[in-house]
Amino acid sequence: MKLAGKTALVTGGSRGIGRAIVWALAQEGARVAFVYRSDSEAAEQLVKDLELDQRESMAIQADVSEADSAERVVQQVQEAWEQIDILVNNAGIVRDGLLATMDTEQWQQVIDTNLGSVYHFSRAVTRPMMSQRHGRIINISSVASHFGNPGQANYAASKGGIEGMTRCLAAELGRRGITVNAVAPGFIETDMTEEIRNVAEKEIIKHVSCRRLGRPEDIAHATAFLASDEASYITGHVLVIDGGLTLGGL
Ligand code: NAP
Repeated sequence: MKLAGKTALVTGGSRGIGRAIVWALAQEGARVAFVYRSDSEAAEQLVKDLELDQRESMAIQADVSEADSAERVVQQVQEAWEQIDILVNNAGIVRDGLLATMDTEQWQQVIDTNLGSVYHFSRAVTRPMMSQRHGRIINISSVASHFGNPGQANYAASKGGIEGMTRCLAAELGRRGITVNAVAPGFIETDMTEEIRNVAEKEIIKHVSCRRLGRPEDIAHATAFLASDEASYITGHVLVIDGGLTLGGL
């Protein structure tokens, strides 16, 4: 129980990688609040499943792309549980398209959801974490920001921004006992990748050294480790978890 007595907040926790992170943190003993946007059924089910496993959780509806959502969510968690020890900025979307035909809304939605939310939520927890002289911020990036995938300029820009921000925040907050790291997943089996998996799964797997797609749990366990006291000397790091997809060998 690496996280006994800790309180965590995860954005985008109702499905996919976020859901697995909520589980992993809860199984390590943390109380976990998570944000979802629209899938209230999935969110309520997760709270019930965790309750059956004797884990305490809280689902909060909010659109993380909206500037004032973070203050409201953080306040709600603090009112219930007093403090937040761990923030996982996981919520993310894709709106792929070639730049020549990408409209401003497509660009802005991705930037506001994936990158804007990291700014808003990190900012909202920073002061309380500084006063408690302890904190963990883990940002979910993507190997898509290390590639040049046609059609993902908006997504890659948002994730590249997250990685730059991770290093700056790590430098700002280390002396206050707060570590800031990013996790960059490869291809993970979630709703987000369903479309591409349907057409290209076999082809993708050929490029993965481990010869399988990633599972949400592959990301979740590493995130739980980065959230623990054992990871107190790791900061400003981007941990690639892609089964070897980006090694580039034959
Ligand atoms: P997913 O299955 O599509 O789930 C996305 C989650 O984010 C859902 O819980 C969704 O809530 C929430 N969300 C999206 N927009 C939101 C908003 N504006 N406000 C609040 N919540 C919002 O995605 P995933 O594959 O698990 O991806 C999770 C993270 O990992 C993302 O940051 C993604 O970029 C990153 N990632 C994924 C992969 C991959 O292969 N899957 C690879 C690299 C990086 P609702 O259910 O309520 O809509």
